[in-house]
Amino acid sequence: MKVMSIYAHPADTITNCGGTLARHADRGDEVIALILTHGGRIHANKYAEEFRKENPDAIVTGAGLDEIVANKKAELQRAAEVIGISRLITLDLDDHFATVSEATVDRIAAEVAGERPDVVICDYPMNPAWHNPHTVATMMALAGLGRASQHLRNLDGSDQFYVKQIFLTTLPVAIGEGLSLHGLRNDVYVDITDVVGRKVEAMDQFVSQGYHGLFARKLIESANGEHGRVAGVNFAEAFYRVYNETHDHLPLTEAALQADVLTRHLTYSTINLRARFPVPE
Ligand SMILES: [Zn+2]
Repeated sequence: MKVMSIYAHPADTITNCGGTLARHADRGDEVIALILTHGGRIHANKYAEEFRKENPDAIVTGAGLDEIVANKKAELQRAAEVIGISRLITLDLDDHFATVSEATVDRIAAEVAGERPDVVICDYPMNPAWHNPHTVATMMALAGLGRASQHLRNLDGSDQFYVKQIFLTTLPVAIGEGLSLHGLRNDVYVDITDVVGRKVEAMDQFVSQGYHGLFARKLIESANGEHGRVAGVNFAEAFYRVYNETHDHLPLTEAALQADVLTRHLTYSTINLRARFPVPE
């Protein structure tokens, strides 16, 4: 399988689906991350915080966009290596985009048509009315997939391409069944317990935006822990499928067959993340 994530910012791929991508890399799948922005402005904590200090470091306060972006890219590269992402594609947009850009849709379509992934992962387009760069990124990603599906070799140099499935992250609900919220729920969970240390280590690389150390552990304990509770495992990542699935009989997963409702609340809480992966010095 070839898996491609498409996200707005450098760290999004790791925080939303880094564990899932690590599991795909481990089973021999090709994992590609397409990142729309260079990440120079998003969570530039290291640079903003320096000005609060008594004696700010002139190298940090004097850093320009090139240096800030180079540092963010080095962090991203290290995180990608930890996860097993084999190719990083960065479109290097400035990260204050506010709306869908036709040129960006074309660039996404060209990358998708060139890579031809089986599966795409991107953010749930949460709120098209209230500005959210992740919503805009997914609108462009979905438009790019649509555009790649209309490619014609005569005109575009590549054949039409249809992705087989799209998995969306950050659905703004956390509930495990299909009735409470009238069907709006994550409908696929991936158990990332075996690779959770790599997700911690990958997040530890994003020092300039403060995603390392305590924050990495808190985020994974709370967000992936809550998804894990719903999934009946220690840590999980949650997805919402865009397309239906077709089976030759009613599907029941291995995890559902093996679930023990009496003890799953115990098994899901057996790992103390901070004890197992202490904050580096
Ligand atoms: Zn983001």
